[in-house]
Amino acid sequence: MRNTMTDEIKIEGLVIFAHHGVYPEETKLGQTFVVNATLFMDTRAAGRTDDLGQSVNYGTVCSEIYTFLTEHTYQLLEAAVEELAAYLLRRFPLICGVTLELKKPGAPIRYPFDSVSVKIHRAWKRAAISYGSNMGDKMKYIEDALSSIEDDENVRIVAKSELIETEPYGGVEQDAFLNGAAVLETLYDPEDLLHFLQSLEQKAGRERLVHWGPRTLDLDIVFYEDEVIRSDDLIVPHIDMHNRTFVLEPLTQIAPGWIHPIYQKSVAALLEELEGRQ
Ligand code: ATP
Ligand code: CA
Ligand code: CA
Repeated sequence: MRNTMTDEIKIEGLVIFAHHGVYPEETKLGQTFVVNATLFMDTRAAGRTDDLGQSVNYGTVCSEIYTFLTEHTYQLLEAAVEELAAYLLRRFPLICGVTLELKKPGAPIRYPFDSVSVKIHRAWKRAAISYGSNMGDKMKYIEDALSSIEDDENVRIVAKSELIETEPYGGVEQDAFLNGAAVLETLYDPEDLLHFLQSLEQKAGRERLVHWGPRTLDLDIVFYEDEVIRSDDLIVPHIDMHNRTFVLEPLTQIAPGWIHPIYQKSVAALLEELEGRQ
């Protein structure tokens, strides 16, 4: 879906005195930590304009890393880098991914060593979701869900479609649907995104009575990057999306070129095929 952005801004060997560790003397006395950070972003706009406003100020990033690591205390390097990565990705919107390494050269180990470290890569991931409502104030259920999505720090809405009215699907007698789709960027993994969306369905008072029956709010994951997932509670791409005009039509408005990783066809092509079959 997205061009792979390969530009990097690197910070190497940033030294910070902080208080992370499992042992009480580590959190009490503190020790030296060393951070290596690679910030992934598209630097072309900054390159063309020579304008810092178009880039990420690495001085500011260093201060944010310093502040974060000195104002928090973690037992594990794993937890410290995990939270720091999410913090940087939220704080600097131009950064689409980070590789972070946190080293502890003075770790309490009884043998000679240079350093221990944990290194992770985290990034904003693209997902497409579709939603529908056919009970009560449909528009409001959908708008409330979208504003809860907007408010969650782990998700941002990149694009949303118009809402379309569609006839019910699946043979259960019920009111017409209002349907739409959105493209998101998220720090959640697919399972966490599903649980987050399910929490919004619950907030809307969704009850699972009849399969394909009337509902206040239905939120489905259509795509997650180009991943193919088949677990007990999650199938991605959504297993029936290519048969549903009410998914493909809104999605074609905002992401016509997104390639279905199994069928290897774009959303626009899947819609065209479906219309041909109908
Ligand atoms: P359909 O999945 O055919 O659109 P539905 O949305 O009415 O039907 P629900 O009752 O909302 O079905 O969901 C049933 C289960 O589907 C959920 O509990 C969830 O675990 C599972 N599921 C599997 N794949 C997905 C997906 N891509 N998005 C959302 N839920 C999914
Ligand atoms: Ca559904
Ligand atoms: Ca669903």
